[in-house]
Amino acid sequence: AKQNGHNHFQFYVASIDQEIRDRKQLEKDLAQALANHQLHLVYQPQINLESKRVIGAEALLRWEHPTRGLVPPDFFIPVAEANGSIVEIGQWVLDQACWQAARWAFGGTPLRIAVNLSAVQLRQDSIVDDILDTLRRHKIPAGRLELEVTETSFMTNLSDAVAKLRRLRKAGISIAVDDFGTGYSSLTYLKQMPVQHLKIDKQFIRDLLVNEEDTRIANTIIDLGKSLNLTVIAEGVETAEQEYYLSQRGCQLAQGYYFSKPLLPSDFETFVKGFHEK
Ligand code: C2E
Ligand code: CA
Ligand code: CA
Ligand code: CA
Repeated sequence: AKQNGHNHFQFYVASIDQEIRDRKQLEKDLAQALANHQLHLVYQPQINLESKRVIGAEALLRWEHPTRGLVPPDFFIPVAEANGSIVEIGQWVLDQACWQAARWAFGGTPLRIAVNLSAVQLRQDSIVDDILDTLRRHKIPAGRLELEVTETSFMTNLSDAVAKLRRLRKAGISIAVDDFGTGYSSLTYLKQMPVQHLKIDKQFIRDLLVNEEDTRIANTIIDLGKSLNLTVIAEGVETAEQEYYLSQRGCQLAQGYYFSKPLLPSDFETFVKGFHEK
């Protein structure tokens, strides 16, 4: 047993050491990723369940690493948040998404573009000016930008977050609470925050029709949205049954593989045209 324990310990140390070296390497690679044009955005359509129209798209970041291949954002974004590089990366995302949005007008109906804003970005003093500058540079009306923020953004400094989001809202940008229900949800901030949208996290949608708790949680979020006059959007909708349930229950918007995976810009254009012809 002692021998085993010893081996186990060595293995443990070795793997931690490996992990640290991997992480250092990952950070180094990430620092180069922007300059080396390894980042790009994909766009996932957001659908109005009543009108069956595409009303917008969420921009999602992709990193094509030269040797590792596609690195998932759930893996590298926490690293970028921890070392602060998310500030620069996030600004690039915003620029890129606005550049794209400026080129998209589908038969005269411009789409709204939703961009994920990290809590670390929201903490920056210049963030509001940076966002408004970006819109101006790309000549995008503020009403066409939506920012998706998570509940963690409100936690570190509530009054600072409130002040910044109010300025953004006042300019005409809409704010969605992302991953709603997964964090330290508090109804207090919903009252204070100038938010317009609640986004039901995909973890509640996956088993929506098989797990009673998930059904109740989704129902609760939809009802909460109704009573607070917030639009509710369901993420991770994968089946016709889920779409039907949500739409009957009064959820206004949805996105998910059932409609489309996140797409490259040209595929996104094809998708929207095809979807509206149906
Ligand atoms: P999120 O904001 O909650 O985004 C939703 C995730 O669900 C995306 O994963 C999307 O591709 C995935 N998804 C969409 N529809 C379905 C579906 O029907 N089924 C399933 N199983 N998954 C679906 P992705 O693109 O891997 O992004 C993961 C997370 O990384 C995002 O979660 C977000 O937190 C973060 N992220 C992505 N891009 C950015 C960015 O530009 N900035 C920041 N700060 N975070 C980002
Ligand atoms: Ca999101
Ligand atoms: Ca989510
Ligand atoms: Ca998330």
